[in-house]
Formats: sequence, C-alpha cells, structure tokens
Amino acid sequence: MSELKEKNAIVTGGARGIGRAIVRMLAEQGAAVAVFDVAFPEDFESFAKELRESGMRIEAFPVDITDADAVEESCTRVAKDFGSIDILVNNAGITRDKLLLRMGDDDWDLVMKVNLKGAFLMTRAVAKTMVRQRKGKIINISSVVGVMGNAGQANYAASKAGMIGLTKSTAKELAGRSVNVNAIAPGYVETEMTHVLSDEQREAFLSVIPLKRGCSPEEIAHTVSFLASEKSDYITGQVINVDGGMIM
Ligand code: NAD
Repeated sequence: MSELKEKNAIVTGGARGIGRAIVRMLAEQGAAVAVFDVAFPEDFESFAKELRESGMRIEAFPVDITDADAVEESCTRVAKDFGSIDILVNNAGITRDKLLLRMGDDDWDLVMKVNLKGAFLMTRAVAKTMVRQRKGKIINISSVVGVMGNAGQANYAASKAGMIGLTKSTAKELAGRSVNVNAIAPGYVETEMTHVLSDEQREAFLSVIPLKRGCSPEEIAHTVSFLASEKSDYITGQVINVDGGMIM
C-alpha cells in the first residue's frame, strides 16, 4: 500500500485506458500523480475525486506531449509544486492503422510524433530533474508490435520499436545517476484503443496468445508499479513483455 509513499509521478495519457489503471495503482501505493493528457473524458473528475477522498493526490494537467514548450513548462511546474519527479510513465499513444500502400504521410508523421517524439520530449524534460535528484524511474509503454511488427501498423510498429531504442539509449546515459529506464511491451489489452478492432483482428491476436485471453489494464499497471518501486533498482534498459506469452 505504501510502497511508493512520498514519490511523485507523471503519467502521460493517464486520463483513460491503461494510463488510468496505472494512475490508480501508483496512487494506491502512495504516490502523488500528475496526469498529462490532451483529452479528459467526462468521468475523469469523478475518478480523481474518488481517489482524492481516500487521501491520494491526483492532478490533471491538460498537456499535448508533442508540444515541447508545454511539456517543459508542465514538468517544471510538477517539479516545483510536488517537490520532485521520481517516476515518469510514457504511456500516451495513438494508432492510425493502414496497409503500407495506403498509408499517408500524415498517418506516419502523427503516430511518430505522439508515440515517439512525445516520449522523447517528456524524457528530456524530466531527466533534468532526475539527474539532479540522482534518482528516478522512467517506464516506457511500448508494444509487442514494436518487437514483432504487424501488418497494417508500419507507423505504429516503427514508433514502438523506436521507443525501445530510446529506452536502451536513455538507460545507458542515465544509469550513472541511478535513473532506471525500462519498457513494457503489452500484448493485447482491452481498452478504447482496441475496441476499434474487427472481430477477425481480435481473433487473430487471441489465436497467438498461449494464455488464450487478453490482458487487463491492471495487469500492465502491476508491472509499472514494480518498475517504479525499489524492488527493480537493479533492472535497467529492459523490455518486459506482458503479453500472455505471445513473444517467447
Ligand atoms: P487509449 O487510446 O485508451 O489511451 C491513450 C491516452 O493517450 C488517451 O487518454 C489520449 O487522450 C492520450 N493521448 C493521445 N495523444 C496524446 C498527446 N498528444 N498528448 C497527451 N496525451 C495524449 O490507449 P490505451 O489502450 O490505454 O494505450 C495506452 C498505451 O499502451 C499506448 O501507448 C498504446 O500504444 C500502448 N499499448 C496498448 C495496447 C492495447 O492493446 N490497448 C497494446 C500495446 C501497447
């Protein structure tokens, strides 16, 4: 319950889906959480209120992670108001799926900008504080698709593979300052993002999952909370597949 007591976290894309499950779990373990998102659904306030009533600190920051100035400004504000930034979860991500021959430049650029450049901008902004603190945990939410590739997702797969490169390079650069950087590669998780998949696409995913079921957002959040805690102090530069055995 108090594993992350007195820790301060930023979770991007934390307004819904996997991000929201991560926000809840970090808060339940004692962390104060700044939620960075471009769009807060109507029920976000009641979600935050419920946690606040149990004594948890949750603050919503309307930030587009592709906007370098907004990212810098908001990270500076968190460091000042919360007192430190101990945990960064780069979770915000989008898809614009199309077969390669039909993929427009805009589909490519937007996905790379949000998923990869956004994670870079957040990491650069937060790393300044973490290096100064000589402590920190950065957790990047990649995807099995970044490791295996997937037809119709060249843009998304490239962005998620890029996140793995970002993870390993940043891990090497920041290790000397006790900042750990790891990635999680989820498989198929039931969220608004995957609700748009057709029955055939869903079946195709399930047929290659040895555990024969999709992942819950909470199962990703459990791995995040482990990587955010002192229990993972000797782990850096790794990609942890949380995928029911899709990749072995
Ligand atoms: P989601 O679409 O439900 O949530 C994504 C959140 O990111 C939203 O709240 C959205 O508003 C926010 N966001 C989008 N663009 C943003 C921007 N420019 N700035 C700030 N916030 C922005 O998606 P999800 O399924 O919860 O996925 C979360 C992460 O997990 C993503 O990075 C996704 O690629 C990854 N992932 C998901 C699955 C899955 O099966 N759902 C599998 C593997 C990896």
